[in-house]
Amino acid sequence: MSLHTSAIERLCLRDIPLSSYSTYGIGGAASYTALPETVEDLTAIYQDCLAKGLSWYTFGMGSNILFPDQPDPDTVFISLKKLTQLNADQGKWFVSSGTPMSMLSLLGLSGGIDDHDFTFLLPGCLGAGIYMNAKYNHRQICDIIDTVYYIDTASSSLSVQSIPAAECEFAYKKSIFQKHPWMVVGADLNIPVHSEEQIRYINSLIPEWKARGSHPSSLPHFFSFFLGEVHALAGKGFPTPEAMLDIIKYRTSKKHFDYPSCGSVFKNNYDFGVPIGSLVDQLNLKGTEHGGAIISPHHGNMILNQNHATAADIRYLMDVIMEAIDRKFGFVPEPEIVIV
Ligand SMILES: Cc1cc2nc3c(=O)[nH]c(=O)nc-3n(C[C@H](O)[C@H](O)[C@H](O)COP(=O)(O)OP(=O)(O)OC[C@H]3O[C@@H](n4cnc5c(N)ncnc54)[C@H](O)[C@@H]3O)c2cc1C
Repeated sequence: MSLHTSAIERLCLRDIPLSSYSTYGIGGAASYTALPETVEDLTAIYQDCLAKGLSWYTFGMGSNILFPDQPDPDTVFISLKKLTQLNADQGKWFVSSGTPMSMLSLLGLSGGIDDHDFTFLLPGCLGAGIYMNAKYNHRQICDIIDTVYYIDTASSSLSVQSIPAAECEFAYKKSIFQKHPWMVVGADLNIPVHSEEQIRYINSLIPEWKARGSHPSSLPHFFSFFLGEVHALAGKGFPTPEAMLDIIKYRTSKKHFDYPSCGSVFKNNYDFGVPIGSLVDQLNLKGTEHGGAIISPHHGNMILNQNHATAADIRYLMDVIMEAIDRKFGFVPEPEIVIV
């Protein structure tokens, strides 16, 4: 390969539909898509974009994104889901941003840590989990983070910087990373001290998982992979904790993995005090269809891609919900999904 091959030529796939990088299964063909496996390759792509006057969009597993039906041809779409690395040390783990959040629960289970149970079957990668401050019940990603490492893409050096979790302005589905063009590349997690043998075992898990080559953006694939992993761990003497069994029950009862979706479409309005899903239910909107999209009959805050829906179909149903809630309850719900 020529020394002059640019990072974009070397690392980008051409004309791949973004639908294959989104749990919604929606999104037209992107001119350039990249899945860098190292921070060096990620930085090289950013530098090349700057040199060529291209813009970029960085994301993870695509489980909270509505990609456009016709992507901008001058944008490089960069998924970090192959940026997976774990360095376990005494009292601290460095976990890179492409690592699935669900993996943290399995690593915790193997290391006798129940603090990560809530991440089980939470779709998405750690980097986006930090950006979104993803949560399940009363536990949020910020609860388990010590320090975040990021690239400030507005700085000319594009060097990796760090920020303590206490300064990340974490709140309900909010973080400082939503205010700046800062791309999370990894984080230190505070972990109890382990034996050397446990540390070796935990360090071996990510490469093992990588070797099986599973970076799914399809929800049924995601579900069966992690269910299989937890069963395999049970077979090795790590029984599945009650909290994780409850998660399986909850998410399967709400049919989270049966149809392509991006989970909850709107953030709850805690000032109003009633979940958006219940308001949609009160408005009798569950089951409303448009094009290939439907408001989930099982969960009023989910819009499903039931039959080749387009981004326009999803946005239409979002507007239906926003207008109806505004008319009846006097506020416009804030989207949780990121519309690109
Ligand atoms: C079935 C289902 C159930 C869900 N349940 C929950 C739930 O219980 N709780 C919850 O909180 N969420 C839930 N979600 C939403 C989703 O799991 C989270 O929002 C998750 O954090 C998204 O991760 P991702 O890697 O898919 O992010 P993406 O969808 O790829 O990206 C989301 C946003 O993060 C930004 N981003 C991605 N990576 C980085 C990075 N490294 N640095 C900076 N910005 C970045 C992107 O630019 C984008 O704006 C659910 C989704 C689905 C499909």
